[in-house]
Amino acid sequence: MNQLLDKKYTYLSNFFKTAIEQNKLFHSLIFYGSNNFMQYAMAMELSRLLNCTGDKTETCSCQNCRWIRENKHPAVMTISKIDNKTDSSKTVISEEQVNQVLDTLINSSDYHRVFIFCDAQLKKLSDEELTEYEEYKTTGFNIPQEPDGDKLWYPSGVNTNCFSTVAANSMLKSIEEPPSNVTFIFLSNNKDDLLQTIISRSESFYIADVKNTKYQTEFFEKFFSSYPLFEKQHVLDFSQCLLNFQTENNMNPKYIIDCIQYYLIQLLKSNSNNKLLLNRILKDIQKTEKSKKMIDSYIKEQTVYEDLAFYFFGR
Ligand SMILES: [Zn+2]
Repeated sequence: MNQLLDKKYTYLSNFFKTAIEQNKLFHSLIFYGSNNFMQYAMAMELSRLLNCTGDKTETCSCQNCRWIRENKHPAVMTISKIDNKTDSSKTVISEEQVNQVLDTLINSSDYHRVFIFCDAQLKKLSDEELTEYEEYKTTGFNIPQEPDGDKLWYPSGVNTNCFSTVAANSMLKSIEEPPSNVTFIFLSNNKDDLLQTIISRSESFYIADVKNTKYQTEFFEKFFSSYPLFEKQHVLDFSQCLLNFQTENNMNPKYIIDCIQYYLIQLLKSNSNNKLLLNRILKDIQKTEKSKKMIDSYIKEQTVYEDLAFYFFGR
């Protein structure tokens, strides 16, 4: 197995190795967690182990391993709104696209076919995303698309926005009675982002994001000085402050919300005796979770920050 994945996810890595050796790997897998690049690496590594005709080591040079490392294997396909498209819709994994995939299953194949479903975009990566990409590269796998200028392929989890109910439903039969040597892998942030009917036919694995993120709070703390109260006249200063800090430091908007969430969690710890305040803080933490979901749904960060600002300052 791949060294980095082995080290980061020892338990999972052993589990998958054994499952593949004993030919017991489930045919539909859901990976969930916040680092979609590591999920993608895990999916590529499983594809490699399922197809290797050599010694299965990280450096194996059999043709299947080489093709998969280059991300050019004909039987290992990434399915997203921008990968393996058969129609012109650029915003969703379409029903037509899914049907094309399923049609290929009618023909038998010598390979073990793996379909990796995710959301993806070509974009200029933030510093944090770039770190994820650099880490992914050390696994030795390529991304499925060439860089476009300074834009790189970046995966995220599927959800019902980019993978419509109709498209997902058209897969159910294949997931229920899959042809032999076919594995479906779904990358997601929360496994609840997938249809219940897919979840119930799949095995789910949490791919933890093992990194020590340092959260910064100084840049917005002054607005929280009389928490849980806020000074109404500063509502727009607050949202502007978040946006400025994000753009000046080239950060992921989710990180900005995480910093606020981190701050609230610290408040929670230091106010454990004040029941009333605790409830307030818990509600606020839930609100920050909602803000992150808004970002996942491609709502503009400025809108997300303003929504959060009006939530805090409007009470
Ligand atoms: Zn090999």
